[in-house]
Amino acid sequence: MKKEELFECFSEQRPNADMAMLERAYAFAEKAHDGQLRASGAPYFDHPKATAYKLAQLRMDDSTIAAGLLHDVPEDTSYSLKEIKKEFGAEIAFLVEGVTKLGQVKYRGKERYLENLRRMFVAMAKDIRVILIKFADRTHNLETLSALPENKQRRIALESLEIYAPIANRLGMGDIKGQIEDLAFPYIYPEEYKWLLKKISDSRREKERYLRKFKKEVVEILQDHHIEYVSVHGRAKHLYSLYKKLIRHDRDLTKIYDLVALRVIVEDVAGCYETLGIVHKFCTPLKGRIKDYIAQPKPNGYKSLHTTVFTADGEIIELQIRSSEMHEEAEYGIAAHWHYKENAMSKKLTKEKYAWVEQLAKLQKEIKDEEQYLDSLKIDIFQTRIFVFTPRGDVIDLP
Ligand code: MN
Repeated sequence: MKKEELFECFSEQRPNADMAMLERAYAFAEKAHDGQLRASGAPYFDHPKATAYKLAQLRMDDSTIAAGLLHDVPEDTSYSLKEIKKEFGAEIAFLVEGVTKLGQVKYRGKERYLENLRRMFVAMAKDIRVILIKFADRTHNLETLSALPENKQRRIALESLEIYAPIANRLGMGDIKGQIEDLAFPYIYPEEYKWLLKKISDSRREKERYLRKFKKEVVEILQDHHIEYVSVHGRAKHLYSLYKKLIRHDRDLTKIYDLVALRVIVEDVAGCYETLGIVHKFCTPLKGRIKDYIAQPKPNGYKSLHTTVFTADGEIIELQIRSSEMHEEAEYGIAAHWHYKENAMSKKLTKEKYAWVEQLAKLQKEIKDEEQYLDSLKIDIFQTRIFVFTPRGDVIDLP
């Protein structure tokens, strides 16, 4: 990525950004990584640039973007954290230090695994932006994972799938969670990945073709009833979550109704229910498939109305109806709140909403027993299995 491209993204996403400071951070990191190469042979600086780009796309604040540019400097170059602090101040240095610390413990053996989990929650409780930088860092590392030796590929992909993705999910970051899982999936279950792609290719193509037709019909219905909508678009289910769902349903694709779905984004809550009512007037809903996540949000805060309907053509389609605000929250989760950073009220709400992060960090101080701590984590965050890594690199599935 060229420098111009990166800064174009900065100014697009954050018109009020401190460009002079970001320029200085860019120059500092570029100089520090000068001459270094990635495993792929690409210049090392490509990686911090990509990290900063992802953070800007999440519309994170200036300090977070600068810390994204600088995140590998203390660890991998001759420049120290002290110099970063002198040059960019305590806040940016604190974020860089947090990311560095999180990266230092590798997942080898159960004790170290727990230690890393604890560090992660402690870092998150101090400043949630640390974990957001780590997500951007990790996503780019996964995108370039093919350059690494096989044992490293596996360790990084497994860490991502079992630790980073569930945390992203718990923070309501649906888009990041889906990206991390789909990037790690082929490295952990290569055969299953190939099997899935083959299994769904025909039906996905057919469904997508039909969805384009159905979308037009829905738009017409909305217009006829004078419902203001922001957008109507199809969405394909992320591969890894589709895979998990298929496993739960005896690998029977006919039982999966949301391989593709139609998303209707409207202006407000009233519009959501209005849309649901009108859609049901034209298409019969399937029994037991109407889910009101607005009245009863998912534990991670997800809000939407879901319904699965029989269309006039006899097809079965899932619709997801939500307001723009709900949509933004569903895609960006906690990161969505940085758009309203200046708003003290929303800051307070965010703090209350994510109070569980602090609770978990506190819990780790109180609970000395590791098994017990792991149990509390499993209940609160990890609904799936938890893996541990033995010193020899074997993977054990904890019961
Ligand atoms: Mn990095």
